[in-house]
Amino acid sequence: MNKPPVTRVLLLEDDDADARLIELMLNEARGHFELSRVSTLTDALALIGREEFDVALVDLRVSDSAGVTTCESVREAAPRLAMVVVSGLENEPQAVQVVSLGAQDYLFKDELDRGMLSRSIRYAMERKRIEQELRDSEERYALAVRGANDGLWDWDLDSGRIYFSDRWKAMVGASIHFEGVPNEWFDRIHPDDCELFGAAIKAHLDDQTPQLMFEFRMERADGMFRWMLCRGLAVRGDDGRATRLAGSMSDITKRKHAEERLVHEALHDALTGLPNRVLFLDRLGQSLRRARRNQAFDYAVLFLDLDGFKLVNDSLGHVVGDQLLIEISRRVRGCIRPSDTVARLGGDEFAVLLDGELKDGDAERAAERIHAELRKPVMIKEQEVFTSCSIGITRSSEEYRRPEELLRDADSAMYLAKEQGRARYEVSDPAIHLAALERLELETDLHGATERGELQLNFQPIVALASGETVGFEALLRWQCPTRGTVAPKEFIPIAEDTGLIVPIGEWVLENACRQMKAWQTSIPSMAQCCISVNLSARQFMEADLCYRIADILAATGLDPRYLVLEITENVLMKNADSMARTLRAIRKLGVRIDIDDFGTGCSSLGCLHQFPIDRLKIDLSFVAGMSTVKGDMEIVRAIVSLAHSLEIAVVAEGIETPEQLRRLRLLSCEYGQGFLFSRPVECHDEGLMAFEMAG
Ligand code: C2E
Ligand code: MG
Ligand code: MG
Repeated sequence: MNKPPVTRVLLLEDDDADARLIELMLNEARGHFELSRVSTLTDALALIGREEFDVALVDLRVSDSAGVTTCESVREAAPRLAMVVVSGLENEPQAVQVVSLGAQDYLFKDELDRGMLSRSIRYAMERKRIEQELRDSEERYALAVRGANDGLWDWDLDSGRIYFSDRWKAMVGASIHFEGVPNEWFDRIHPDDCELFGAAIKAHLDDQTPQLMFEFRMERADGMFRWMLCRGLAVRGDDGRATRLAGSMSDITKRKHAEERLVHEALHDALTGLPNRVLFLDRLGQSLRRARRNQAFDYAVLFLDLDGFKLVNDSLGHVVGDQLLIEISRRVRGCIRPSDTVARLGGDEFAVLLDGELKDGDAERAAERIHAELRKPVMIKEQEVFTSCSIGITRSSEEYRRPEELLRDADSAMYLAKEQGRARYEVSDPAIHLAALERLELETDLHGATERGELQLNFQPIVALASGETVGFEALLRWQCPTRGTVAPKEFIPIAEDTGLIVPIGEWVLENACRQMKAWQTSIPSMAQCCISVNLSARQFMEADLCYRIADILAATGLDPRYLVLEITENVLMKNADSMARTLRAIRKLGVRIDIDDFGTGCSSLGCLHQFPIDRLKIDLSFVAGMSTVKGDMEIVRAIVSLAHSLEIAVVAEGIETPEQLRRLRLLSCEYGQGFLFSRPVECHDEGLMAFEMAG
């Protein structure tokens, strides 16, 4: 069995008889005591400095000290030492006092017996241990609290009194005197947070939340508001009713500001400080919901895109570009009410939300104000920069479900404004969106149409008007779409041009038209001298190797170049007159011939024609159609024919439908013609060929 630990006892007693008595009692007691006796306080303090003790038995009155000072001196020398005061009955008041000064117990010499003594010693030591642990833990807690910089509060719900720690008070303002009533706290809470805080306290007191946790703004003595985080826990009686609520309060202003900054950064454009797309869509969503609840509420979205911003950026540099964007955002802001929103969506795109009670024309007027503001030059680095923007406007409508839809339509309207020549605005039309959607679908379907074999060529004869002889054919493209049926080139060629799909499609046309012509020339004697006319689009001329591709195809199909005619519309010709003249000369060198298509519809100056190596002009069918009815049209056709002839260029009349048109064209000495009167464009199978031969 383990021997119980020895208890080391220091006895301060100047009376030998009393000391002897205590010594005897401890020896007889069942505990193991090791006694060291001193008779003066000086000796006691010296011994305490040298040796460790578990408990001190202290007589208050010794030769060099008397009363509570004896006890205080011992405690100061050994704060962790348990102490039992042993005194005469006459000193009872003092004995009681020493307990409050740190002694754990007191005994009267006259009543001493050994059981009582040893029990008192054990009790004193145990009590000292508990006191010490409590103090340690309190110290730890105090340290932790001080480290966390928390203020503490403790609210006695029954008495209504509240305790605020010094740190708590300092957080509010050191100069204030606190009485300890809850309103000294709650009156300082920001009006916007007050009600919610009250609700949070109530919820916790009603046991609906496991703890109280709330962030609020609180006014300090200097009038500043700080963000505080309050944590608290209720103490409940047996009946579950809260009797006390206590907790901490920490200053989280820094964290809050950091959070606010992060939120701000996430929702704003760094360059201009304007709201970004996310925030704009959020505000637009709010307007959308408000309009749904309240019929009278009306709003509009303006989508702005700077004209030629890329040019500024590329020529004057990004710094100037940035300055320009900042200045523009400032001006646009100045054009609208403070309650409206201007956002930068990215790059040179801005959006404006005009909110609430809009009258007819308000949005248009805002767009005009913006245009007027942007017309003024911007001074950047002593340089005048001019800019303008295209604006698309969308008005609120019940059909809109999501904010993105409004922005999308305003964007489409902006595009329209741009197409119509910049520095303009357009109001969106739901039909635009539909058209855009259809266009998108068509575009998707058109991809791979060549590979899937959905493209087809029709051929329409070109006839020499004097003899009625077929001299060639124009290849006209058709798209046999599985879902749409036959799609006319006017519908899909512009899209193919925009997407660049026209390049592979155009090659397909050229190759198949040449191959077909070669086949006819070899198998049908009457067609041996026939030409094939192929339409080329503007986009194809942007391909640097166009000339080589044509040569390759001619070589591959075996068609003699002089039987190939390329048709170019007048507008394509005029757009890049110089480079076009060069390309056309190169093509001409191959031996291929060139016709100008749809002549008269474009804006060419007739005087320019001589610089191009042209074989024929094709008069647009709109003039031919009007020849016998519209007086001016006859004159135009006459003028075109005589101009062409003076340049030694032959003329083809398109769209001849009536014998009367044919008669008049013959009178004008127009060389060639094409039209339903001779034949519609037909698919290439034998019956089609039969029809041509018959017409010829
Ligand atoms: P285009 O080159 O001026 O072709 C003549 C158009 O007039 C053809 O329309 C033809 O069907 C039509 N036409 C011919 N005779 C008559 C007539 O008597 N009355 C009327 N009302 N119309 C007549 P289509 O085939 O619909 O082609 C339209 C346009 O599409 C062509 O005008 C051409 O610019 C373009 N296109 C057709 N095929 C191709 C192609 O393979 N490549 C390119 N880039 N464009 C093509
Ligand atoms: Mg044509
Ligand atoms: Mg034409």
